[in-house]
This record gives sequence, C-alpha cells and structure tokens, in this order.
Amino acid sequence: MIDLHLHSIYSDGTNTPRELVEHGVKLGLRAIALTDHDTVRGVDELAAAAKEQRMDFIPGVELSAGTFSLRKDHQKEVHILGYFPRWDDKIKAALEPLRQVQIWREERNRSIVEKLRGYHVPVTYEELVDLAGSNNVGRPHFAHWLIENGYAHSVGDAFQQFLTPGALTFTERKTYDIKGSIDLIRSAGGVAVLAHPKALHIFSDDDFEKFLKDMVDKGLEGIEVYCSVHLPADIRRYERMAQKYNLIMTGGTDFHGKMKPDIRMGYGFGYTKVDDSVYDKLRAKLDSKK
Ligand code: AMP
Ligand code: FE
Ligand code: FE
Ligand code: ZN
Repeated sequence: MIDLHLHSIYSDGTNTPRELVEHGVKLGLRAIALTDHDTVRGVDELAAAAKEQRMDFIPGVELSAGTFSLRKDHQKEVHILGYFPRWDDKIKAALEPLRQVQIWREERNRSIVEKLRGYHVPVTYEELVDLAGSNNVGRPHFAHWLIENGYAHSVGDAFQQFLTPGALTFTERKTYDIKGSIDLIRSAGGVAVLAHPKALHIFSDDDFEKFLKDMVDKGLEGIEVYCSVHLPADIRRYERMAQKYNLIMTGGTDFHGKMKPDIRMGYGFGYTKVDDSVYDKLRAKLDSKK
C-alpha cells in the first residue's frame, strides 16, 4: 500500500512531514509523497525523516491552476500534482517561482479578510496564521475560524456561505494557468498529473476527453486514478482514460489530518488502497527523466 497525495502543516494539513512519515511506517506503507498546495517547503523535513526511517518517498506539490468552466453555471478548480525524481538543489532552484504563488495566496487571503470584516465578521489575518501554524493560510483555515467563532456550522456550510465561487466573500486567487503549471513542474524534471479528476464534475466522456486531450497537448503525463473521492465506477472510467491517452496512473488519499477528519492516511474514507505497483511505475517514469 502507498499514499502519494498528502498534505502537511506547510499547507492545509495538520501533521508535520515527519509525522506523516512516522504514520506511514506504522501503516506499513511502501512509499509516500508530500503534495502540499503550491509549496515544497515541507519536503526537506520529509526527506530527512524518510531517510531516517528508510521509507521511499517522492517530493511533490499540488498546484492550483485556475478554474475550468464547462458552462455558465459550472466552475471547478483544476489541481495539478507534480512529482519529482529526487530532492536536490537543481530541482529546488527550478521551483523558486512558487514564491510568487505564495504572494498571490497572501494577497487573496488578505482580501477575503477585508471582505469578511466588511460584513462585520471580525476575523484578522493574524488569527488565521495562528490557526494555520504558518503563513500558508488556505480557505479551509477560514472555514475553521468561521466555525469556531459561530459563523458556520460545518466546513461545507462555511464554503457555501463565504468561500466557494459565487459565495459572499469568494475571491479569485491569481495562479499559474494549466500550461504554466505543467511547464513549471516539467522544467524541474517532474511529472505532471491531473489530481482527483472527479472533482471537476465533468460527467460526459466527450467533454472530459476534450479537456484531458488539451491537457495532454500541454504536457500532462499522468492522471490520479485512485483517490478518496473516486468510487469503483470512477476508477474504471479514469483507468480507461489513462490507457487511451497513454497516461501514468497515480493514487493517494488527499489526507489533510484534522482539516478533513473523514479521510484517513492510506485508506481515505475506508476503501481506498493504492497498490505498490502504482509506485513502481511512477518511480520508473521519474527515473527515466534523470
Ligand atoms: P485554497 O488553496 O486556499 O484556495 O483552498 C483550497 C482547499 O479548499 C482545498 O484543500 C480544497 O479541498 C478545499 N475546498 C475547496 N472547495 C471546498 C468545499 N466546497 N468544501 C470543502 N473544502 C473545499
Ligand atoms: Fe487542501
Ligand atoms: Fe486538490
Ligand atoms: Zn490535495
């Protein structure tokens, strides 16, 4: 069993990279990958812990690449996973542009704070940084602040009222677009993978294939077939797409610790179990890029 989609305190997870490694060892995982949103700041710690525990790991990232719209009433965020063959100065240097993404994120966060305060919700940016444990504040941290202070009864409710596109204080965040994100990952020697495709809510095969083909033309090399939100029919669908477009298949739970308490590392909602062979194939692909 492996888990190639994990978040740490360096984005909106609640575990340190070291804790992820230790938990992975306890679960008997063969390999893990850290895929924090728009940052690789946790990878040094992951690499050190994995080396001590002799666990196979992949340095990774999950890039927000703007939104995709099928129709007027359909707007979904595109997330692209980047997996890198090793963790060295060359790759770190190639990923320097991620600093800009952090700046865009902070600008967006401060704008949400201002809008909330405009609606007499007395949140401060500093409280969110406290809650997040770092400067890397994300909307789930806003959601938790809103719950703790009595403005929402659940994460879903907080997103519905305030944080999702169309909601009261939703603010678009500048990101690299799909091409820019794929180029960034590939220029660092990485493999670009479409994350949790089901979350795009594209139900017709024709529409999905049009979208996927465009991404493949832009340099996409993989698709996350196995993940918590994918049911058996989804897995069959994306396996079929992977074969048709010659894409590597990856898998992981999208574990966020206490931020998404229903998702367990390694098991997702209970039925996700990603086979070791998925790691072996991705590792072979990464090694072929060296
Ligand atoms: P951000 O990167 O700060 O824009 O926030 C993205 C995070 O918000 C991701 O972890 C998503 O899983 C989470 N998210 C996005 N939409 C929702 C939603 N409707 N309900 C719960 N979580 C969401
Ligand atoms: Fe997240
Ligand atoms: Fe995601
Ligand atoms: Zn994720």
